[in-house]
Amino acid sequence: MIEARELTKRYGDKAAVDGLTFTVRPGRVTGFLGPNGAGKSTTMRMILGLDAPSGGTVTVNGRRYERLGAPLREVGSLLDARSVHGGRTARGHLLGLARSNGIGAARVDEVLEEVGLTRVAGQRAKGLSLGMGQRLGIAAALLGDPGVLILDEPVNGLDTEGIRWIRGLLKSLAAEGRAVFLSSHLMSEMELTADHLIVIGRGRLLADTDMRDFIETNSRGTTLLRTPDNEARRMRALLEAAGASVRLDARGGWRVDGLAPAEIGELARSHDLAIHELTPAHRSLEEIYTDMTRASVEYRGRATPPEPLAPEPLAPETLAPESPAAEEPAR
Ligand code: ADP
Repeated sequence: MIEARELTKRYGDKAAVDGLTFTVRPGRVTGFLGPNGAGKSTTMRMILGLDAPSGGTVTVNGRRYERLGAPLREVGSLLDARSVHGGRTARGHLLGLARSNGIGAARVDEVLEEVGLTRVAGQRAKGLSLGMGQRLGIAAALLGDPGVLILDEPVNGLDTEGIRWIRGLLKSLAAEGRAVFLSSHLMSEMELTADHLIVIGRGRLLADTDMRDFIETNSRGTTLLRTPDNEARRMRALLEAAGASVRLDARGGWRVDGLAPAEIGELARSHDLAIHELTPAHRSLEEIYTDMTRASVEYRGRATPPEPLAPEPLAPETLAPESPAAEEPAR
């Protein structure tokens, strides 16, 4: 289990992580979601004792990382798969890690098998493909058979097959009772992998929720309804009396929340009212997540000067004033 309490990291006067409190529990994959720069890696580095918090605490199984007797046996991590010494063989790399943590060679062969690297175990790490490098990183994380796993954007740059493999592995590791903490900036990734979701933006907690609840609460459908103008008021009153909430839609018509399209249709028929349009509308989880984090992205856009040599983001004022896109914030 990982427990962060008011965890904070400041760089100068800027808080990269700002008072984060959350718990990563065993037996499930906890997705750590936020736009680039939200503070995910910094949080993970603090969990692993690689960065010191400026405030607050974070513990693994009740103790700060530095206090763990045999860290590799309690928490495995994959932060940057490219940090492997390229001249070592895959097996040599794992043997070195195993030896310095009092783990036997038999376990090295076990994890090589588990991640499907047995055949290339004798190859030098620098010759491995990105996907294989990632598997090697995961093998290292699994060496001590830890109850807690931390993976920072493990699917970045992988092909579909590699992504599917990692997803399956993480789910089975959680099903074995481990606490799996997985970061990504992609909602689509979390939707497929995580049981629980922690969303951050600008270092702050935006949501801490069961994935299924998040989907149910947020993707509950609304319905776009159009009626003849002279019947609109009556229709609205009927809908509200039936418990729906009704508001004007920007594109004309009503947006009805709380009644299914079939119920709206029946209601109209029983009062002899006409319907000109009845369209179910779902917001995708991606849209909900984007809305949730928009404020933090905009803030960063204004507060962070562009890096030297980095391409300038397209600012709203550079768009033609009559362009409808000018109303949208540049992202
Ligand atoms: P994420 O992993 O969500 O993309 P990071 O944790 O890498 O976000 O970064 C959070 C913020 O902290 C960013 O604005 C980043 O520029 C800043 N940051 C991270 N590490 C350092 C550092 N060593 N020095 C200064 N700023 C840093």
